[in-house]
Amino acid sequence: MAEKKLQVALYWGSGCGGCDVAVLDTHEFVLDLAAVADIRLWPIAVDGKYADLEAMEDGELDLAIYNGAVRNGENEHIAKLLRQKSKVMVAFGSCAHMGGIPALANQVAREEILERVYRDNPSLEEGSRDVPQVRTPLEAGGELTLPVFYNRVYRLSDVVDVDLFVPGCPPAPDQVKAVLKAAASGLLPPKGSVAGASDRAVCDDCKRKKEEKKVTRFFRPWEVIQDGERCLLEQGILCAGSATRSGCGVRCPNSGMPCRGCYGPTPNAADQGAKLLSAVASIIDSRDPAEIERILDGLPDFLGYAYRFGMAASLLKRSIR
Ligand code: SF4
Ligand code: SF4
Ligand code: SF4
Repeated sequence: MAEKKLQVALYWGSGCGGCDVAVLDTHEFVLDLAAVADIRLWPIAVDGKYADLEAMEDGELDLAIYNGAVRNGENEHIAKLLRQKSKVMVAFGSCAHMGGIPALANQVAREEILERVYRDNPSLEEGSRDVPQVRTPLEAGGELTLPVFYNRVYRLSDVVDVDLFVPGCPPAPDQVKAVLKAAASGLLPPKGSVAGASDRAVCDDCKRKKEEKKVTRFFRPWEVIQDGERCLLEQGILCAGSATRSGCGVRCPNSGMPCRGCYGPTPNAADQGAKLLSAVASIIDSRDPAEIERILDGLPDFLGYAYRFGMAASLLKRSIR
């Protein structure tokens, strides 16, 4: 009798689609996957319906891979449904892992977002600036419904129990293959693991020379001709390598770009942004408050950089104004 195929669902919550593209970037492996797995739901590629998911037995799926954050009622509903129907729930990519880029919206309130997008938007004509409602009665009868837009963005583990976290924005195709192969062979890492990540910081694996030099000015990467051998932070280019967990192969610094923190905090850091702030504070070459202020002015939107991928997982969670 043929061996039972792995039952898999993939879902795209509040994200950019890059994580789904990362799965497709495994090229012919997707075909190998189709040979060993039944893909029961994958809205970007397979015509499964939510009703099909609802009709499944609890635990019928072997693996649910959720990418994107939880931004609205639909995301939360499907996350809970997938959890109920799956033996293993994977938070795939920075958005599901830590809130990701969408969680930068936690710097403003829901009403401010709706105001900017629907009422204060110059590309909309006067008279068409209605804010969509959760329930809109239709003249012809019945009603139009939309998911509730939440006041903040959540990571997946804020709403359901997660078995495995796959970091990265997006995760590398090799990580995708490793998780699917491990699931197929029943050899997934222990519950709560961050797959493919190490306990070290990106700095620990980075080969750039560290000379403990202090900076008197910060630069955007394109504002300076960098020394390809030296630590970027010591050249005044903000790099989050000291606050970020390694495992990606030091991809960005090796390509001349600073680490932006997509693998999340090192295991011993309570807050990735605070750890980066501490690294920045230690490298500024001044004790004069006015001079320090001037140097920090070279770091526009520090909050957005320090919490680029992890605002929902931070101690802050969101700003309150
Ligand atoms: S983790 Fe990155 S690539 Fe994946 S959905 Fe979020 S923003 Fe897109
Ligand atoms: S701060 Fe960036 S460039 Fe410097 S050692 Fe760490 S990872 Fe490498
Ligand atoms: S270097 Fe940093 S931002 Fe780049 S892939 Fe690695 S963890 Fe992510």
